[in-house]
Amino acid sequence: MKVIVIGAGIGGLAASIALRQDGHDTVVYERVSDLRPVGAAISVWSNGVKVLAKYGLLDRVKRVSGMMERMAYRQWDNGDVYCDFDLNPLYEEAKMRAYPIARSELQAMLLDANKPAPVHLSKTAVSYETTAEGVTVHFHDGTSDTGDFVVISDGTHSKLRNQITGTSIVRDYVGYVNFNGAIEKSKLGHLLPSDTWTQFVGDGKRVSFMPMSDTHFYFFLDVTTPTGTTPSDSAQWKPFLAEYFSGWAQAVQTLIAEMDVGRVARVEIHDTQRLPTLIDREGGRALIIGDAAHATSPDIGQGGCQALEDTFVVQRLLRKHGLSGKASGRPTTEALRGVLDEYEALRADRCAVLVQRARQRSNITHRLGDPKETEAWYEELKAEDGKGIMSGILKTILSAPKELDE
Ligand SMILES: Cc1cc2nc3c(=O)[nH]c(=O)nc-3n(C[C@H](O)[C@H](O)[C@H](O)COP(=O)(O)OP(=O)(O)OC[C@H]3O[C@@H](n4cnc5c(N)ncnc54)[C@H](O)[C@@H]3O)c2cc1C
Repeated sequence: MKVIVIGAGIGGLAASIALRQDGHDTVVYERVSDLRPVGAAISVWSNGVKVLAKYGLLDRVKRVSGMMERMAYRQWDNGDVYCDFDLNPLYEEAKMRAYPIARSELQAMLLDANKPAPVHLSKTAVSYETTAEGVTVHFHDGTSDTGDFVVISDGTHSKLRNQITGTSIVRDYVGYVNFNGAIEKSKLGHLLPSDTWTQFVGDGKRVSFMPMSDTHFYFFLDVTTPTGTTPSDSAQWKPFLAEYFSGWAQAVQTLIAEMDVGRVARVEIHDTQRLPTLIDREGGRALIIGDAAHATSPDIGQGGCQALEDTFVVQRLLRKHGLSGKASGRPTTEALRGVLDEYEALRADRCAVLVQRARQRSNITHRLGDPKETEAWYEELKAEDGKGIMSGILKTILSAPKELDE
């Protein structure tokens, strides 16, 4: 069947790859004229990596990603180590490593794997309409395209989800601004171990260094502040961050002094509450995936992983309902309704739980909830041997679709 995919982010491209591999014709439409990822890197946790492995991308992931062997928390000012532990027991239990990867590498990998499917740029989808025979997507320039099925993956600012849900979805500000980028490990010299995800925490703030490649750390600095209160002019970011993180450990000071602000992204972190639905109940030929369906704060590193899981579930459900492969022909709306219903049943709860878990994590890390909880967390970190943190991460990874382990 012909599948129209809206949005060429992680979710949209992965959906196109998954469905092409099952014999569908896919066509991707993307709003921007130049595909450039926002943000420096992303940690793809074991569940997300398993999806990429299913699509035949594991070798390439391994080639371009960072080797993150350990995880450490440190005290914000003197850099004293609260805890420092080996992540390999987690990887063994998850049956897959996590791979921090440059967003540019991930995007290039997905675009390559999607070839020769067309990705049309400068095409903003504005609406779609369904008939018994198919579904037509309309674009801002007056053009349209008709297919059998639409996968909506237009990200956190999604407009099309409003059509699916029948209501205007508003994002919620989580309470902090994330400044992120990449920095050469050599610039940090001896200050940080190169194979360790190190996070400095204190005072409701966080600065993180994650090994995203052999040569670079992916860094982020979290500024806990009301929305609209950080400078939008990047020329002001260094003095702003230097003041905000005044008195922090040497690695943080070096980062601020050495970072290339021209390549830093500033993101006000938002999430969305559970949507009334992820599927077009009336038309029966469209569903939402990724951030459009369940925007989340990045505090458990699962937004992209869940977009990937979504694509895997869609692929498997189309197979299960006999709708994959050239021989299956064009699907009826009734047949697609079965896929949509199961998609909703499998994804809505899972993703809502994770959005909530990320929000709780964020509240504690950034002292946005009860301040006593944040203080208690700092104390817990001092006593942590890694088992508690890893079991929390494993809880998320091991509740991924079981078919990922087959
Ligand atoms: C600071 C930060 C750190 C993060 N860290 C992690 C992490 O470590 N691990 C992790 O798994 N996740 C992480 N995430 C989350 C992750 O980035 C997202 O969940 C993921 O990018 C979602 O992919 P998506 O395809 O749904 O949306 P996007 O990647 O946003 O893609 C949506 C695409 O749709 C296009 N589009 C929008 N509207 C239209 C339209 N009307 N018509 C056509 N195209 C349209 C957009 O231009 C965009 O290209 C992080 C997020 C942030 C902000």
